[in-house]
Amino acid sequence: MTLCQVTIDGPAASGKSTVAKLVAQRLGGHYINTGDMYRTVACAVLRRGGDPRNQTEEIAEVLPTLDLGYVLDEGGSLVLMLNGEPVKQEEIRTAEVAAVVSYVARIPAVRYWLRARQRKTVELGTIVMEGRDIGTVILPNASNKFFMTASPEERARRRFAQPGEVPAGATLASVAAEIAERDQMDMNRPVSPLRPAEDAVLIDTDGLTPEQVADRIVDRVEGRA
Ligand code: C5P
Repeated sequence: MTLCQVTIDGPAASGKSTVAKLVAQRLGGHYINTGDMYRTVACAVLRRGGDPRNQTEEIAEVLPTLDLGYVLDEGGSLVLMLNGEPVKQEEIRTAEVAAVVSYVARIPAVRYWLRARQRKTVELGTIVMEGRDIGTVILPNASNKFFMTASPEERARRRFAQPGEVPAGATLASVAAEIAERDQMDMNRPVSPLRPAEDAVLIDTDGLTPEQVADRIVDRVEGRA
C-alpha cells in the first residue's frame, strides 16, 4: 500500500478525533492527535503550580524538562509518552486543561518545540494527523488535507456528551461559551492560527455520522471521490 499523510484540521469539538481514528483504522495508518500534545504541555505547567494564562517565559522554561513524543509500543500501537510514562487521557481531557490550553498553544516557543515532534511522526508510515495547523504549517506538502466544521450548537452538544471534559454543573450554554472562547483564541493568534489550508477539502459534518465523514475522507484519499 502507498504511504500517505492525511491532515484533519478544524475547530474544537468538530468531531475530528472520532473521524481521524476511523480513517487511520481504514487506511491501516497511525492516528496522531496534536491537541493531546498541547494539552500535555498545559497539564505539565499546571502541575508545577503555574498559571498558563500569564506565564509565557516560565512555560518556555518548562519545555526542556519534558521528553514528549509518540512512540510505538510492543504491540505496534502508537502511544504518546511524557518522560517515559504514557500520557493518560483522563489527566489531559479535563475542564481545567481545556480552560488554559489555548493560552499555552499561542506561545511561539511551544509551537516550534512541538512542530519538530509532530513532523517526526511521518517516519512511522501512513499517518492521519489532526489539529489546527497541520495542513497549513506542520505538513504543508501532504496530499490529503481536510478541514472539518460543524455548527456551534452541534459542537456544544457533542462536547457536552463527552464525560470528563466538561466541569461539574456545566450547561449546554456554558460549554458553548468555552468552545467559542477557545476557537477565538485559536483563530486569532499570530502564529499558526486555526484556518483551512488553501488546498483542504472542507467538510461540514452537521447531520453526518462519524462513519459517513470517514467514508468521504477515505474515498477521497483512495481516489474514489
Ligand atoms: O484538539 P483539542 O481540542 O484537544 O486541542 C486542544 C487545544 O490545543 C486547541 O484548542 C488549541 O489551542 C491547541 N492546538 C493547537 N494546534 C494544534 C492542535 C491543538 O493550537 N495543532
